[in-house]
Amino acid sequence: MFLQKIEISGFKSFAKKTILDFSGKGDSKNGVTCVVGPNGSGKSNVSDALRWVIGEKSIKNLRGNKKEDVIFAGSSSKAKLGCAQVSVFFDNSNKQFDIDYNQVVITRKVYRDGENNYLINNSKVKLFDLISLLSQAGIGHGNYTIVNQGMTDKILLSSPLERMSFLEDAAGVKDIQLKKIKSLRRMKKTKENIKKIESLMREIEPELRVLKIQARKIEKSQKIRKKLFEKRKEYFAVKLNGIEKSQKKNDLELKKIENQILINQELINKLQFDLEKTSNDCINKQNKKIEEIEKEKRDLENNRYELERIGFKKEIELKSLVEKIKELDKEEVVLVDRTYILSKLESFKEELSKLEGKPVGKKIISRIRNLLVEIQAGKTVKKKAGKEVDAKKKVLRKDLEKLKKEAEVNADEIGNCKKLIIKKNQQIQKINQENRKKQESHLEIKDKIRREQFEIEKADKYKKHLKLEQNKLKQGQKDILEDIKNNFNGKIDDLRKIFSNKNLDDLKMEIEKFNWQLEQVKEIDNSVVEESRELQEKYDFLKKESKDLKLTLRELEEIIIEMEKTIKIKMKKAFQAIGKEFSDYFKLMFQGGSAELERIKINSLVGENKNIFEDDDLDKENEKEFNYGLEIKVNPPGKKINNLNMLSGGERTLTSIALLFALISYNPPPFAFLDEIEANLDESNANKFSRILKKLSNKTQFILATHSREVMRIADILYGITMDKDSYSKVFSVRLEQVKQGWV
Ligand code: ATP
Repeated sequence: MFLQKIEISGFKSFAKKTILDFSGKGDSKNGVTCVVGPNGSGKSNVSDALRWVIGEKSIKNLRGNKKEDVIFAGSSSKAKLGCAQVSVFFDNSNKQFDIDYNQVVITRKVYRDGENNYLINNSKVKLFDLISLLSQAGIGHGNYTIVNQGMTDKILLSSPLERMSFLEDAAGVKDIQLKKIKSLRRMKKTKENIKKIESLMREIEPELRVLKIQARKIEKSQKIRKKLFEKRKEYFAVKLNGIEKSQKKNDLELKKIENQILINQELINKLQFDLEKTSNDCINKQNKKIEEIEKEKRDLENNRYELERIGFKKEIELKSLVEKIKELDKEEVVLVDRTYILSKLESFKEELSKLEGKPVGKKIISRIRNLLVEIQAGKTVKKKAGKEVDAKKKVLRKDLEKLKKEAEVNADEIGNCKKLIIKKNQQIQKINQENRKKQESHLEIKDKIRREQFEIEKADKYKKHLKLEQNKLKQGQKDILEDIKNNFNGKIDDLRKIFSNKNLDDLKMEIEKFNWQLEQVKEIDNSVVEESRELQEKYDFLKKESKDLKLTLRELEEIIIEMEKTIKIKMKKAFQAIGKEFSDYFKLMFQGGSAELERIKINSLVGENKNIFEDDDLDKENEKEFNYGLEIKVNPPGKKINNLNMLSGGERTLTSIALLFALISYNPPPFAFLDEIEANLDESNANKFSRILKKLSNKTQFILATHSREVMRIADILYGITMDKDSYSKVFSVRLEQVKQGWV
């Protein structure tokens, strides 16, 4: 990075836009630029412009009294201007500025009315952001980046603590210190906020406590209300369920009983039919039938008597005929002799011969037996013989046969008649039996009918009772549905889903209990809950805020501790290295002698840079801390110096320059403007100064306002500034050959 050019317009003596280009020739980007010119021509105004554009706030450091003193005030030939503007151009190809541009242009513009703007590449920025950007690149507006005329020995005149600021610049901790100061401010603000929040919380707490107690009561009552609501729902659910169950049961019972009555009635109807069948009419009919049968029976009996009488008569006739035939058939008994037997045997023999080859007939066997009986008895019966007898017998026998037949027919008829009589008796008996049975059954049926009628009466009574119950239940259901509609927005289906195994009495008791509990908390206003909730939310918010802030505070403390550690390490390193460099440069400038830096402990304020912030309200008491100061001890060759005031003007300049070189060599700034700091050096010392400067210019871009030829000789670029009768500064470049030839 290097300073490419500066554009000054309306700033102090530069009434017209003036450009000083520092980019040099060839590869040399650093080098030395000398600004030369007569006294009062405006050389220092260039350094003022540079100091101003990079954020100087102190008008005194810019050699003015009022802010508008930096704006061209006018001259005899040119009117005053309304605004001053300065731009510096940096090459940022190595991205030393942490922005994505190869060129960074910083502009400051101020108007007479006090409007003051900072711009980076034409975008408005705050001073703090500008300072942060510059400090990233090692550019500080104070200390040794721009050393003004007369400020050379400022470091020697400063207090030990103020000197530390130079060391801080060189140690590169200014940026960290800025951040530290910012963190301290944030810490302070955070602490204040925590205090405010905690005080607010303390204010809220008592009210919140009271509200919470009340809100808890309300919440309790709301819970009770909810429970009560649920309980009532349950109560109604149980009641509705009970009624509907009873209705179902009742309806079922009613159906059953109606059915039963129907069955009973049907049975009675059937029994009535049966009763008809067993009625007196029916029996009377049967009795008439019996009478008919008995008449038939009597006719049969008469018939039988007649037949028996005929039969008896025939029997007598038959006996008489038989007697007659017997008379005719009377037989004579003769003795069995040999002749008889032989004749018999002879007839058998004859019969047997006829039966030869055939089985012996029984008749013959029987006749043989009869013969044997006759032989044993010694006698036999012989029939009477004669034609007349036989004829008589024949007639008689014929009559007998006829009579027998007639007797047989008669007997059959009697038999048939008897059978019919028996049958008639049986019929009569059967009808009588049936009649008896019918009579018995008639009574039984009557009894059954009575019983059934009694059952029907009983059932009817029960049915009436059930009907009554049905109506009552219906009315009960209607009432409860109406209640549900009024109390629960008619959500009857929801209610039906509720299951409960509790009985109505228990539920009633629970409802009464909740009602009683509600009575106890009823007097508190419901808005308390909302109030309490809002206050609690506020309190919780504050609590969270306080917690977050405390966390931030801890983080800030940690960051500050960390930054302090870094600062300490860097400062220690810088102190040692710069002390050595100072000693070396001192010896070089004085051709001997000794010089050293010493750290001394002091109680003082932190941060010399705090004045760079606008609205600085740091609490000085809070920022006090134990700190170090810087003491300078020098002894030019052969001299013993107790304090720096003993040094001559030149010695003071040489000592200051030695320290400045030490600081620059330890931490070379990108550029430095040295405004006639070598003014009171003799030629030899100016020569030494120039040579050292030339060496240092390989790391730092130097711009010098000078009258010294020794210094001009080392210049790579030379600008001349004049102010003629127009009374504003004009710049022209000077040919280096002229300088080298001793023109200036
Ligand atoms: P020296 O060599 O004596 O140190 P110099 O070249 O450094 O002189 P400067 O101090 O830069 O001179 O310039 C001073 C001149 O600037 C004065 O003549 C002064 O009138 C002029 N000047 C300062 N402020 C303004 C302003 N606001 N408007 C016009 N001119 C101004």
